[in-house]
Amino acid sequence: MELLEQADISMINTLALPSKARLLIDTYTVEELTEVSKKYSLLAEDILILGGGSNLVLPAFLDRIVIRYLGQSIRYQETDTGELLVSVDAGVVWDELVNKLVNKGLRGIENLSLIPGTVGAAPVQNIGAYGVELADVLESVEVFNIEKQITEILSKKQCEFSYRDSLFKQNPNKYFILNVCLKVSAKRDFSLSYGELQSLNRNSDLSVHQVREKVISLRQAKLPDPKKLPNTGSFFKNPVVTAEQAIKLKAKFPEIVAYPQAGGRVKLAAGWMIDQSGWKGVRSGNVGMHSKQALVLVNYAHATQIEVLSFAAKIQSSILEKFNVVLEIEPVVIKT
Ligand SMILES: Cc1cc2nc3c(=O)[nH]c(=O)nc-3n(C[C@H](O)[C@H](O)[C@H](O)COP(=O)(O)OP(=O)(O)OC[C@H]3O[C@@H](n4cnc5c(N)ncnc54)[C@H](O)[C@@H]3O)c2cc1C
Repeated sequence: MELLEQADISMINTLALPSKARLLIDTYTVEELTEVSKKYSLLAEDILILGGGSNLVLPAFLDRIVIRYLGQSIRYQETDTGELLVSVDAGVVWDELVNKLVNKGLRGIENLSLIPGTVGAAPVQNIGAYGVELADVLESVEVFNIEKQITEILSKKQCEFSYRDSLFKQNPNKYFILNVCLKVSAKRDFSLSYGELQSLNRNSDLSVHQVREKVISLRQAKLPDPKKLPNTGSFFKNPVVTAEQAIKLKAKFPEIVAYPQAGGRVKLAAGWMIDQSGWKGVRSGNVGMHSKQALVLVNYAHATQIEVLSFAAKIQSSILEKFNVVLEIEPVVIKT
């Protein structure tokens, strides 16, 4: 276990916002986490569970105990049906896991290649990309329940997954995710319905490596590398509206990019709306919307949380005015 008071966590958030935490504690085992929880009588509102910091908008000073769980174990278990259950500790880097499974020829999470962050954070916003979400392969999640001070196994259903949302996102810092169990297989069908992956359908000998490589090249072509231009990926969620509202919008904006969802609702491409409202590539002070990807807010230099949120608010009100659609911020905003 490692403890650091007044810890500078500016380097542990991909938006590179300057931030200090009252106390940073790194734990490596469940026993250490339990010990910390007892010693400090942890309450959800007094802590921040930190992964890789790729989905956070941090304040200048965090008057909380910031805790990381850095367990690294990966265990495999074959099922009766020839699939594989993979139990992965929260501290494993997500893309290292994807790479490992792809190298074993295992299918299921290749479309989620190159998403930054840790395995422990993946269920929080039910990470998704190129037509696949974590929930498609997740079996269960092992958590340390901060209030009850016990470890629990939650089934997929109990995790209440939906688009970029879950029980964990709705109850911040209440459940410390320790381990995630995924079901993958060497035979599972690829998921290639997403526009830019459709061309792979023509290849009858397609390998899981090729799908991963395609996803990586698509992402590298349009997403700025946070190490060079700090960002949190998509800054806004794609709004999901009723069928009636989508019909009205289509009549007024025939080019609007919309994807029908199960249950009759319609998901709108937030990036298209931001682009149409003239915000793509616009810079205001230290922040701006990226020139190649209208959905990505970037920190050009020395931005603060206040600057980021006031720029985001201008975009939200502009979209509300033009389209009558509410844009929600996707990363987790921590105020104090
Ligand atoms: C360039 C870029 C591209 C991205 N692309 C995508 C994408 O395609 N799809 C997508 O879905 N996301 C994407 N993201 C967002 C981000 O990578 C994911 O949300 C990722 O899962 C966050 O992981 P993290 O470890 O960095 O979490 P953090 O940012 O550290 O934390 C995020 C949230 O999870 C909580 N949390 C973290 N670890 C745990 C834990 N062990 N237990 C309980 N709660 C925890 C935190 O308290 C916080 O609320 C992108 C980000 C960037 C920078």
